[in-house]
Amino acid sequence: MKIVITGGAGFIGSNLVRALTEQPQVARLRVVDDLSTGHKANLADRDVEFFEGDIQDAALLDRAFHGADAVVHLAALPSVPRSLRDPLASHHANATGTLQVLEAARRAGGPHVIAASSSSVYGANPHLPKHEDLASAPMSPYAVTKLTTEAYLSAYHHSFDLPILPFRFFNVYGPGQQADHAYAAVISKWISATLAGQPVTIHGDGTQTRDFTYVGTVCDVLTDALLRRVVDPRPVNLAFGSRTSLLDLISEIETATGQHVAQENRDSRPGDVHHSQADGGRLRALFPAVKPLPFQEGIARSVRWFRSQNRAMPI
Ligand code: NAD
Repeated sequence: MKIVITGGAGFIGSNLVRALTEQPQVARLRVVDDLSTGHKANLADRDVEFFEGDIQDAALLDRAFHGADAVVHLAALPSVPRSLRDPLASHHANATGTLQVLEAARRAGGPHVIAASSSSVYGANPHLPKHEDLASAPMSPYAVTKLTTEAYLSAYHHSFDLPILPFRFFNVYGPGQQADHAYAAVISKWISATLAGQPVTIHGDGTQTRDFTYVGTVCDVLTDALLRRVVDPRPVNLAFGSRTSLLDLISEIETATGQHVAQENRDSRPGDVHHSQADGGRLRALFPAVKPLPFQEGIARSVRWFRSQNRAMPI
């Protein structure tokens, strides 16, 4: 199989590259990435063809997609706060970028296209758990770009028979998620701060909950989807229905690091939702073989990764 990963130099993309290079059925891997939030070093020692540039560059996509059997579209500006500051930049990268990817897929003869949407599309809809058939209620420009991503995928499936699979990622965490990234996610920031003996910042009272999914589990689902060529025009939640509060997260980090986590409380941020929990029924039905890594083990592996990064840093 020949597979293209857009955004392959980022957190999830580079973990997926690692997972796919271990699959004997995967003959060739290509990555398209403009390195706006990703790093080429994430692909060091990996056997990939790298196409550096923007997914809005149609000629670049034509070269990368030539002869591809499948495309995993992960490239995006993945941040709610950034989209509040600069909505057009998020729209160009995430919505127009997706349209360019789909057009290039059409020109390339219609490879299987798997794409990353986000739980943020549920936004202000208070119903829990979040089932895919609930009405979406975006609370940020970022969420709109992800809803647009799903809508374009569906349209290309129905209009042009493109074989597609849109996933709604929830909170993905694990090795490779940089804590120094301007929009780093909560787990990487807090593990890194704790190991450095610094306090963690809680926006709100810490009772807000998230459905965290370990990045290795996300890659297991994506790999299974690619190898079995799973096609579904309906969005699929990529989370298993867990509900972890930020206060629970702090105690897991304390257990895994053996260190006390000092806390600083601030006001909640606009655009943030209080509870996020997936209904994992559709995911489990489509991918019965994939079992999620338990949260405690995922946090332990993440702590080990951060410690190994610290050891690798020059003094
Ligand atoms: P990331 O920032 O680590 O990776 C995104 C990659 O896309 C980066 O390598 C970046 O350089 C690249 N990129 C951005 N704009 C580009 C463009 N215009 N052209 C080419 N490359 C571009 O983020 P991630 O956490 O790995 O997220 C991957 C995908 O999953 C994104 O689509 C994101 O919106 C989605 N997602 C992630 C989470 C999460 O918890 N990490 C949750 C929901 C959705």
